[in-house]
Parts: sequence; structure tokens; C-alpha cells
Amino acid sequence: MIADDSSDNVSLLSRYLQSEGYRLVMASNGAEALERTRSEMPDLVLLDVNMPEMDGFAVLQEIRADPATEHIPVIILTAARPDPIDMQAGLNLGADDYVTKPFDRRELLARIRAKLRVKESMEALRRRHREWSVLAEMARALVAHPGLEGLLDAVLQITTRALGAAAGQVILLTETGASLLSRSIPAATSMIEMLFPQWTDILAQIGETWQGWIIEDTQREPFWQATPNIAVRSAVLVPLVGRSGVLGLILLTHEQAGHFQSEHLSLVQAIAAQVAMAVENIRLQAEAKGRDTLSSQVALRCMAEAVLMFDSAGNLVELNPAAEMLFKERPLAMGRRLASGEGYDALAAAVEEVVISGEPRVVEVPGAQQRTFLAQCVPMERSGCMAVLHDISHFKEMEQEKNEFISTALHDLKTPIGIILGYAELLTRTGSLNEEQSEFAQHIYSTACSMNQLVQNLLELTRLEMGVKFKQEVVDVNALMAAVQDEFGPKVKAKGQLLRVQQAEGHPKIKGDPLRLQWVVHNLIDNAIKYTPNGGTIMLSLEHSDSQVRLSVQDTGCGIPSEDLPFIFQRFYRVRNAATKGIEGNGLGLTIVKSIVEQHGGEVHVESEPGKGSRFTVVLPLLPVADSVAMQATAE
Ligand code: ADP
Repeated sequence: MIADDSSDNVSLLSRYLQSEGYRLVMASNGAEALERTRSEMPDLVLLDVNMPEMDGFAVLQEIRADPATEHIPVIILTAARPDPIDMQAGLNLGADDYVTKPFDRRELLARIRAKLRVKESMEALRRRHREWSVLAEMARALVAHPGLEGLLDAVLQITTRALGAAAGQVILLTETGASLLSRSIPAATSMIEMLFPQWTDILAQIGETWQGWIIEDTQREPFWQATPNIAVRSAVLVPLVGRSGVLGLILLTHEQAGHFQSEHLSLVQAIAAQVAMAVENIRLQAEAKGRDTLSSQVALRCMAEAVLMFDSAGNLVELNPAAEMLFKERPLAMGRRLASGEGYDALAAAVEEVVISGEPRVVEVPGAQQRTFLAQCVPMERSGCMAVLHDISHFKEMEQEKNEFISTALHDLKTPIGIILGYAELLTRTGSLNEEQSEFAQHIYSTACSMNQLVQNLLELTRLEMGVKFKQEVVDVNALMAAVQDEFGPKVKAKGQLLRVQQAEGHPKIKGDPLRLQWVVHNLIDNAIKYTPNGGTIMLSLEHSDSQVRLSVQDTGCGIPSEDLPFIFQRFYRVRNAATKGIEGNGLGLTIVKSIVEQHGGEVHVESEPGKGSRFTVVLPLLPVADSVAMQATAE
């Protein structure tokens, strides 16, 4: 652009420049210079300083202040002998150079060429920068939008803005080229298929070349459908090419012909490559998820076990056909917790515990028609709980049969053992035996005693496992302790031991089976005496709180090694070391103790130090005074 009020200057400059092949825009005053700079966006401005209305410096100031024009190089045209202060002011305002009148043609053209070269490289840099920031923004958008529609909308937003397009559309295609998903901006943009009447030809061409192309002028494009109410004069069309071929297309349009440049095409192609990759990833993820969900749903449906799922509030959210069958007669309400009093209280309690604690639980659940289920309740990955119910009725029946068989056999053993015991005792009384004979008789007697003990213990254990009903009576724990103390008097005396009893104040009571509870204390004291050397002390003490009684048996015996402690309540487990050598036993006593205590709603703990002694503590629920009074009244 030449901005000069002197027509002589203008015609001279035009001649010089036209001879070099430049296209020119003229302005004869400052205001016009500014206005034409904005509307024509010249590649360079030759700006006279002294112009009417608005001088060259004011125009320069405005050009530099406007982001749209600030990058246009401006060469100031000055008087023959320029005032250095003026020149400095011009350069400070952002002039790129100045030439003095009269112009030297070669110097002027050389300066113009130099400035245009600088401008070109600056523009290339700016373009690159713009492209990088668009691609970076695109990469962020692709990560931020996990769904296809959101992703395509974001792509359109960014691309139309970056290219200054009036409208845009992304279309995803099926393998046969049919439209699968189409998003456009603004929303009412015409469908791409309508804009191209030979749509299938276009697709075939793109499918072969995988190249995008610019439509400079839609009116001269044979493929373009001239639709009167659509003011589109230029467009750029780029395929989304994935690993498997063309996935779709991006189309951007503008109302002016020639809007899209080759650098636009390469930017959209770079964007399209990223988008194609993101679309394929989303599809792969969806397929994998679909496969997972499908296979787990099929597995759930086909499972013979009943499966129930609960949300984080413990509400039932899903159950498989096996579970529907199982609860046919007492249907479960979806979206609700399991109702209480319907026969599945144990399951409901386990589900609640799992939901709260996040720890797995296993419970037995009684079912209809004498069936028994083992419910494994496990926390689910996100939240809630899954319960899998295995039908263990068959095992239960087998166990019952086994217990009945053992119980019968044990009963049958009791009689002959009793006879052996009786005769062994009689032997010593029916006449004089020599020393060896009486030793044999004694041996027979003590072995029969052990057998008797074993049979008694096994019988009790079998009964406990068969779920024998316990008596529910009021038991005064102080009285129970006193009875056991009396029972052991002679045994303690024989070993020179001291059995001390410390009863609790206020006669605490518990509810349960008096004989079995007595057996618990008996067994603990029997062990304490057994595993404490002669002269040791055994302490039986009782204390209670508002809700519990704590009964402990402490001895000064051999103690239990820490590695054995976790196993001593297991059936037939005996500690075998120098300290226990020669001590008779069958490893069932503590198993029975634990079973009885637990069936009374209590717990048993042990602390022990080898060589120093052991303390067994039984904790049982205290029977509130009011309840014990009521129970005693009904018993009477
Ligand atoms: P046992 O018939 O062998 O005594 P229990 O089941 O009563 O069987 O006890 C299991 C094992 O625990 C015993 O073999 C013994 O080693 C150990 N034990 C039990 N009570 C005591 C105790 N008071 N002091 C030391 N060891 C004990």
C-alpha cells in the first residue's frame, strides 16, 4: 500500500513497484491509509509522514495497536533532510525502516524486498506457533473427552476457530460408507452428503488417496451441489484415516471463495490424524468393555450358584436366575435391603457388615425344604457387596450322617470300656497280686480311663457339631466356680498345689447350659493342674462389667510356646515338647471349651509365656438382672 497525499510521489512509486510485479493499494490521507490497511491487509505499507487529517505517525501508532495489523511492515517515507528526532520517533513507534525523498529506485526496492522477506519468515513462524497451539489444545481435548460425541464436538470447536471457518462437520462412517455419527457446528449445518451429490464417488476417491483437498470455489467445483440457500464458497475436506482405513471426514466451509490455504489443509490433516487415533481408541475400549460386560453377564446368568448384588447402602440391585429361583417363595424386593424375619437374617447381617467394613464374610443361610447355603459375601471393586450362595445341603447331610455314625459307635464303645474299667479295678481287690501283676492291672485301668475320657470328649464334640440344643437357664458364675473348686480339692492336694478362687461381687449371672458351662471351667482348671508342676499355684478369678463377665484361669505352669498358641484350640492338637512329655491328654479339651463358649455368644483368649505360666480368659455376655429375675420366675 502506498499512503501519500502527493500524487507525484504516488505515481512514481507505483511505476517502480508495478514494474516489479507488486499489486498496489493507494491511500491519499491518513484516515484512508488506516481504513485500507484494515480492509485490504497489505503485505507492506509505504507511509508518508506529512499527510492531511492524520499524519503518518498517528497512522503507524494505530496500525501497531491493532492485533490484526500489528505485524504488517511499515516503511516511512520522509522528507529529503529528515529531522533525526522525527526519525527516532517513527522508529520508536514501530516503523520497520524509512526511505528519504527523492527515492533511489534500487535502494527503495531492496528495502521493500528485505522487509517482505522478514515478514514472510515471521509469518511462517507465527503460523507454526499457531499450529502447535491448536494441536496442543486438540491433544488436551482428546484426553478430556472420553465419549465419541463430546470428542467430535470439541474437535469441531477447535478446528473451525483455528481456521476461521464459518461452519464445520465431522462424520463417522460405517465400513460400507454409510453415516454412523455426524456432528456439526453450527448445529443446523447441511448434511455433508447433500453438499456432494456424487457422494459415493467422493468417498471412493478419498478411500483410495486418503488425501484431503481444498475447494477454492464451490461454484467452480463439479462435485459440489449448488444449493441456493447455502452460502458456501470455499471448503476443505479431510479424511480421518485410522489403522483400518477411512473412519470418517472433517469438512470446514467458508462463505468467501479462496478462504482456505494449503497450510490450513496441513493443519487439518495433522488434527485428523490425532482424531482418528482417538476415535479408534474409544471404539476399542467400548468393544473391550462390551466384551467384558457381556461375558460377565452371560457367566452370571449361567451360574448354578445364586448370586445377589448389593449397592453401597446394602440395597439389592441385581440377582441372577439361580437366585430368583432360590427366593421364589419369599421374593426379594429390588432396590431394598433384605427384610428381617424372613429366614435370611444371617445373610442380611453379613451383607451389612461387608458394606460397612469392606471385609469379606462367610455365613450359613438356611433355605427352604431343609436346604443349607454357604453365603460368601465379598466387597465389590467400587462399592457394595456381592453374595454367592453355594448349596451345601448335601455336605450338611453327609456330615450329619457321619456324626450320627460316630455318635452311635462311641455309645457302643462306652459299655465295653466301662466293663474293662470295672474288671481292672476288681482285679486288684479279688486277691493278692504280685508286684508286676498289680502294675499291669494299674496300666489296664489307666489306659481304659484315657479311652473313656476320649470317648466322652468325642461324644461331646459330635453333639456340639450336630447342633445339640443347649439348656437356657440362669447360671450364677460364683456358685459354678465354687462347685468346680470343690471337685478339684483332692487333685490339687495330691500335687501340692494351691487353687485360689476370687469370686466377683454381686453374683453375676449368665444365661446358658449349667453343666456345659461347668465343664468349660472344669476343663481349664484340669489343664492348669495338669500342666503346672507340683507346688504351683492356680488362680480362678471372676470379674464383670455392665455387659460381660470375664472368667480367667491362671497358672504358674510350663506355659505354651508362641508358635503353638494359634493351634491349641484345634481338635487333637497337643504341644509336644520336653515340658509336656508324659502328660496324658487327647487334644480335644480346648476344642470343646471354645465350641461351648462360642455357642453361648462368648469368646476365649489365651496369654502364655513358656516357663512362667498361662492365663485362659473366657468372656461371656452378662445376663441383665431384670432378665434373670424374669427367667427364674418363669422357671418356677
Ligand atoms: P489336652 O488333652 O492335650 O490337654 P487340650 O485341648 O485341653 O488337650 O489342650 C491342648 C494343648 O494345649 C495341650 O496339649 C497343651 O499342650 C496345651 N495347654 C492347654 N492348657 C494348658 C496350660 N494351662 N498350660 C500349658 N499348656 C496348656
